Parts: sequence; structure tokens; C-alpha cells
Amino acid sequence: MWCNDFKKAFIGSELTCINAEGKTLSRIYLDSAASTLAFAPAQQATQAFLKYYANTHSSVHLSAKISSEAVAWAHQRVLSFFGATQGYSAVFQGNGATSPLNRLARGLSELRADKSTVLVSLMEHHSNDLPHRAHAKKVIHINIQDATGEFQGVDLIELEALCKAHQQQLNYIAVTAASNVSGHITPIYDIAEIAHKYGAYIVVDGAQIAAHAPIQLAQDNPQRSIDFFVFSGHKTYAPGSPGVLIGKTQLLDQLKPEFYGGGMVSEVSKFDYSVSGLLFDKEHAGTLNIPGIFMLATTLDFLDRVGMYSIYEKECMLTQYLIEMLQTIEGVKVYANTSNTQRIGAVSFNIQGLPHELLALILNDYFAIAVRNDCFCAHPFVRECLVDELWEIEDETQLPLYQGMVRASIGLYTNKADLQALEHALTCIVNNKAYYVSQYKLTDELHFVHKTFKLETQQYFNIEDTLTNCFSDYLSKEKISMYEQREEMA
Ligand code: PMP
Repeated sequence: MWCNDFKKAFIGSELTCINAEGKTLSRIYLDSAASTLAFAPAQQATQAFLKYYANTHSSVHLSAKISSEAVAWAHQRVLSFFGATQGYSAVFQGNGATSPLNRLARGLSELRADKSTVLVSLMEHHSNDLPHRAHAKKVIHINIQDATGEFQGVDLIELEALCKAHQQQLNYIAVTAASNVSGHITPIYDIAEIAHKYGAYIVVDGAQIAAHAPIQLAQDNPQRSIDFFVFSGHKTYAPGSPGVLIGKTQLLDQLKPEFYGGGMVSEVSKFDYSVSGLLFDKEHAGTLNIPGIFMLATTLDFLDRVGMYSIYEKECMLTQYLIEMLQTIEGVKVYANTSNTQRIGAVSFNIQGLPHELLALILNDYFAIAVRNDCFCAHPFVRECLVDELWEIEDETQLPLYQGMVRASIGLYTNKADLQALEHALTCIVNNKAYYVSQYKLTDELHFVHKTFKLETQQYFNIEDTLTNCFSDYLSKEKISMYEQREEMA
């Protein structure tokens, strides 16, 4: 029941657009795994806060105090959302999960320079693979297929054998909590137990799970607790908010600072400086993204009030519907994980014989359905899933067109009607494939473009018009047009 009610709370959920046939359609957003839509009440709360906004490096005046309180509240709110109140701290960094993952890869390789090896699963997003490749002396990839080549995720017995074999050199295991390709949920607490048994840490990429399933970083059995957890604010309904690293305080304390500058020092002389003994200060050189942090915590607060278990349950039902629906359409292939349990709502598929980019374009241009296509920054995993199909392509020039997939992913605002619209669209495309294909041409750069229809983005969002409108109360017409004159002269 609640899912429908929530739709309105998300900015852009009621967008309409004009399709290639000139019809006005409701846009259907099925690209939440890339970025979720923004939760309007959190923006509202942030607007209310902005009245009192000031830099937290100021400390005495009213706004500085309110800002500092807001950040302290947000810090605690983020920690409690992930069941990490005791012995954990959060660090806000960059624009998403990538920045904190780099911070950890560098920090942990420095901290334990004698431990040269990192285990990374083969289903990782590049952001949880390449930083480790860049900073660890040796990265060993953890297999995710069974003996027949079928996707199974991380096999715990195999993982334990790997840990045992590399015990002396093992620094940490880096694994995603949920795959952005297959939606598969990884047994992170079991992996934590194995890592700890062999003296390693566990780094969990929580980018895909944070907004979709409950997470409890501190477990009753401390061996099963997560050492480091990273996620992106823009995937948790708060675009404009930072990436977040949550880690055990005693471990974060040992990492050398990532950035140097204002706010992270206790004393600076002409000759020397001392880094702050407060972890939060040490980790946050420069001014914080205060409104972003506040907005993120506000959004998480809402998710908590709704209840992460019920969100997970509801999204599981929708995902089950999505997978079953896709499997009934002739020619549609769902990749890597067709199970209905232990997964989030990111489902990757193709229509046989149709390049992924073309399918995504047709869905956009004719049906106003927004999906992601390509390799989702997880090339090794996606290519592995496609390997058999790619072998069958005889004309090598066609290969690049098929090296990818289409992904539909859901969020709090997704409902059954959205998925039924996708079903209708895919059925139309399968039944009229030749017609849709004939509407597009292939460029020399191997991209498809519609022969007659052009997406007129300016029709929806024109930056100049928006600024003129927003500035009109404060600038005279002459001032606004002065800007235009300058543009002309340039
Ligand atoms: N990990 C996973 C599983 C992801 O899906 C993504 C984003 N697609 C990232 C990491 C990187 O996150 P960001 O782009 O927010 O830095």
C-alpha cells in the first residue's frame, strides 16, 4: 500500500515526456541502481536547515552551533541506521562510494605494508576492484561461478581455502554486499567471520544495498561484524550528498589522514603541525558538505521509520514480479541470477539479437522508460556472463554492439504498473523488432541514433531560462541581458 503513496515524495517521479511518435507519456524511472530519484521531504528539511547554515569550523555564533549540531546528529543517524552505534565512526567523503573505497585501499595498504594480498570478488564494480589493484601489491580475484560455469556468487568454502593459502600475506577481503549487475546479495557476515579467522579485514561495498535491505554492521558475535562499509548518498535518494565510509573506530584511528588542510589539525606552527586526535576532524580536512550530510541522514531517518525490513520485502515482491515477467517474454534473457530470494531489485537482461544500446534507446524513445545499458562499470563480470553468446557472433565487427546488457532497477517509488509498462514495451519491441530497428542508424563510432527523432533536452530543462526565472526577482532585465551581450561578444 505504502509504495504508491511514496511515489509523489520523489522529485521527477511524475515527469512526462514526448516520445518519438509525438505522444506525451509518463516517464518510468527504472535506473535506481545508477542513481535514485531525490526524496523531496529531505530536500525540504535541508531547505529549513539552510536558514541556519554556517560553516562548522566556526563555533561561536548561533548558525555555527546549529550547523555543528546538525552534523553531529547526522553522524549518529547514519551510524544507527546501519546498526553501528558502538565502536564505529562515519567519514563523509567525495561524491559516492568510489572516494571512500580509494581511501580505504590506500590507507589499508599503508597500514599493513607487510600484508601484500587483497581478495576481491569477480563481481565487483570497478570502484571496488581498481583501487585495490592500484594500491595492493597483489589482488586475487575470488571466483563467482560453480563448476558448470553458472553464477553462484562467492563460495564460502572456496573463499576459506583461498584465505588459508594466503593467510600470511592477507590484508583484507573486498566484496560487494549486493551486485549492481545480478542483484545477488553476498553473505557478508559469513565472509567477515572467515576474514577474521585468518587475520584479515573485510571491506564491504554497500552502494547497492544501503537503500534496499537492512544492514547491521555490529553483530552479536564480533567475529561476524563488518570492519568497513561504504555507500553512496546519491543511491539512497539523496543526490548532492557525499559518499560515506563507516568503519570500526579503532581501525580508522590507525589510518593516516587522506587529505591535509584546515580543520584536521590541532596545532600548526611555521615548522610543524599536529594532526587532530579526534577521528572526525582527522578525516575531514576542509569544509564538510554540510547540507548534503544533513539531507542524507534525513533520508535514512525516513527509511528507518518506514522500516528497512518492509522495504526489502516489498522490493523483493516487485523484483520477483519483474524477473518472472521478463522470463515470459520470448527472446528475453535474464543474466546471472534469476532467483527471487537473497537479492535486490537490479535485474540485467537482453533481447536476443538486439544490441543493448538499441534496446535502451527504444525503451527511452518510444516508451519513456529509463534503464541503464552497457557493462555497468563491472566489465569482468558482465563479459563473463556474455561469453557464450559472444562466441556465437561470427561477424567480429558486430561484437562491440553486444558486449553489454540492459538493467532495470527499482526504488521506493517503483510500483507494479511501472513493471507492467516495461512488460508492454518489451513485448511490443519483440513483436515489432524489424520496425524499431529500421528507425535507427549506426554511427561510425558504433552508437545508434534515431533517424528522425531527436531528444530535445532543452524543451525540458533549459539552463538559461531557469536562471533567468530564478534571478528575475533580484536582477533587472538589463542585468540579465547584459549577460547575454557578454556571451555574444565572447
Ligand atoms: N559499487 C557499486 C556496487 C556500484 O553500483 C557503484 C555505482 N554504480 C559504485 C560502487 C560506485 O559508486 P559511486 O559512483 O557512487 O562512486
